[in-house]
Amino acid sequence: MSTQSSQQENKSDEDLGSALVTARRQLERATTHVNVDEGVIERLKHPTRVEQVSVPLKRDNGDVEVFTGYRAQHDDVRGPYKGGLRYHPEVNAEECIGLSMWMTWKCAVMDLPFGGGKGGIAVDPKSLSEEETERLTRRFAEELRHVIGPTMDVPAPDMGTDAQTMAWFMDAYSMQQGETITGIVTGKPPIVGGSEGRDAAPGRSVAIITREAIEYYDKEIEETTVAVQGFGSVGSNAAKLLDDWGAKVVSVSDVNGGIYDPNGLDTYAIPSHHEEPEAVMAHEAPETVTNNELLELDVDVVIPAAIGNVLTEENADDVDADIVVEGANGPTTSAASEIFAERGIHVVPDILANAGGVTVSYFEWLQDINRRQWPLERVNKELEEHMLEAWDDVRQEVEAKDLTWRDAAYVVALSRIAEAKSTRGLWP
Ligand code: NAD
Repeated sequence: MSTQSSQQENKSDEDLGSALVTARRQLERATTHVNVDEGVIERLKHPTRVEQVSVPLKRDNGDVEVFTGYRAQHDDVRGPYKGGLRYHPEVNAEECIGLSMWMTWKCAVMDLPFGGGKGGIAVDPKSLSEEETERLTRRFAEELRHVIGPTMDVPAPDMGTDAQTMAWFMDAYSMQQGETITGIVTGKPPIVGGSEGRDAAPGRSVAIITREAIEYYDKEIEETTVAVQGFGSVGSNAAKLLDDWGAKVVSVSDVNGGIYDPNGLDTYAIPSHHEEPEAVMAHEAPETVTNNELLELDVDVVIPAAIGNVLTEENADDVDADIVVEGANGPTTSAASEIFAERGIHVVPDILANAGGVTVSYFEWLQDINRRQWPLERVNKELEEHMLEAWDDVRQEVEAKDLTWRDAAYVVALSRIAEAKSTRGLWP
């Protein structure tokens, strides 16, 4: 399964050990800008539940191996928990909790009727045959069955898992329930209840938000230069759309490095990671750059769309762009964020920019519940509307309180969650 190995590369330090620490720090920071009850903040520092399960697998050679699986459910005050399942050797409870918190904020900033969840299995998916992956996934679905459900907790693909994994998961869940329940997961292939446009959605949302940011800062898109780090699902879809809309994409990269053409690259001629892994450097271009040089190019917009923690204290002073749009999850460290704020570089955060994925997951869930598939045009039109509404909500906070885009996005998310909590009250 090629996507499994490719997504392995995206494991960042931030993802690994400190997801929970970072998520709590960001929550603390956001509370300084919004008037929210202390009890609500305290509650949000902790997940509702973390389910840990043992997942036995009969290997192809007949041996039985037992893996550990998790599902962290952070908060569901606004609707079912929502978030990915990842297969990676370093998946652990803390990481899942931290990532589930980010999903809570992401769903809230997009005003989706979901809370945050995240889970996975501590396993190297590259070490599994396809048959083993299927058996492991089916058993995992069974072990989690009592804590998930289409109105309770709706998983999705993440690192090391893909649409096929979700199809097996949905089938296993449905077999035990005695009926086909497509709404148990999102990110499925369209033939079994998946949504058109789901794969391209995170990149599309990054492009839409980039376009809005360009306009907001009084630039003409036709006169804007863009550098995109990572040419996978997020990076290639964002780059191609921005290219379509007239921006000049001057540099793109993959894990090996990047290419640079000051006159603009033909983004459609460069194979994306899924078309041909690691083929960017083979594309003819006037210059090559390292991944770090790409981030420091003299461009208007930089889009880190590969891995986390690439914009750090080390290179933040050398970034030349006016706008950074976070395509990847967590590409900017807290120290770099502060430097950018001091330098007047505008950073549009991941929880807004790449939220197209979970937004189209929401559309997929609606389609599943209604048993009615939407055409791609409707998916893209409604995604555009949702992104513009979220952009506007965050923009208003930026302007009203003179906040960074990240702080403003957290304020929007936190205010919605806190209001829902105080309206519902504390049970019992
Ligand atoms: P992908 O596997 O499709 O592509 C990743 C790209 O990044 C590839 O071109 C790869 O060569 C490159 N890359 C890997 N390691 C690199 C490194 N060290 N330096 C530079 N480039 C490197 O991944 P994707 O789905 O596009 O995800 C990219 C980022 O976006 C991740 O942070 C992911 O968590 C985030 N994200 C993805 C989705 C989604 O649904 N695909 C949604 C939201 C956020």
